[in-house]
Amino acid sequence: MPRCDTGSAPRDGAWAQVSSAAAATGAYPKRVKVVEVGPRDGLQNEKNIVPTPVKINLINMLSETGLQVIEATSFVSPKWVPQVAAGAKEVSIFGAASERFTEKNINCSIEESLERFEEVMKAAKEVNIPVRGYVSCVLGCPYEGKISAAKVAEVSKKMYSMGCYEISLGDTIGVGTPGSMKEMLTVVMKEVPVGALAVHCHDTYGQALANILVALQMGVSVVDASVAGLGGCPYAQGASGNVATEDLVYMLNGLGIHTGVDLQKLMDTGTFICNALNRKTNSKVSQASCRL
Ligand code: MG
Repeated sequence: MPRCDTGSAPRDGAWAQVSSAAAATGAYPKRVKVVEVGPRDGLQNEKNIVPTPVKINLINMLSETGLQVIEATSFVSPKWVPQVAAGAKEVSIFGAASERFTEKNINCSIEESLERFEEVMKAAKEVNIPVRGYVSCVLGCPYEGKISAAKVAEVSKKMYSMGCYEISLGDTIGVGTPGSMKEMLTVVMKEVPVGALAVHCHDTYGQALANILVALQMGVSVVDASVAGLGGCPYAQGASGNVATEDLVYMLNGLGIHTGVDLQKLMDTGTFICNALNRKTNSKVSQASCRL
């Protein structure tokens, strides 16, 4: 999927240095890269189809907030090369640590999915486009239940080894707790450098910010979030959206962690998309601000 790279964020090496230092000292990272997934992950899980002008407005508004990375859209066709040629600056591939989820989601086994990714990696390498790897269901699966940290580590390592510059660990159905997050990251960090890891948390059980906090304490410095908490998971009944970017930035501000994001502009953007979709925001920060 193409992304809008809207800033001059330090690339992988610099983030890795920041993260390694945090992991070594147990301190929080000084800065966090917030990856905004609302236009892609958020809107693709909304019930209503979003008109293209609204989506373009959303992306433009997000790009004015100081966010450094905004996922713009997703492709489902297997004809990847022409799509990469469509102007993507970066693409992502989507794997999972659960066999049954992979089967339901992309109709193949984990092993087969990794083979398919090789083709994408090759095409992206030819045109010099960085690839981000997603691993879904790292803290639980709607079909298999608990997922072993060893399996998450195995899939993450394979995707990292095939050339993904960053691995985003997704608690797709939001069942994780700070305990299971810590346990999973401890195992995964033995296989993939912490500077190459991101977390992607859903707030189904109200644990997203707590889980992210644990990840930060362990040295992770890249966090996915979705403006207004857009999204959900079509495979898990009752699963709520991604952690709201507004709530994440509010927490990071409180910790004195630099994001470069203007919280007020972000909240305005959340209001815009919620009005356009005729839905309520899932951001607690925005809800509280409305009541003040
Ligand atoms: Mg998500």
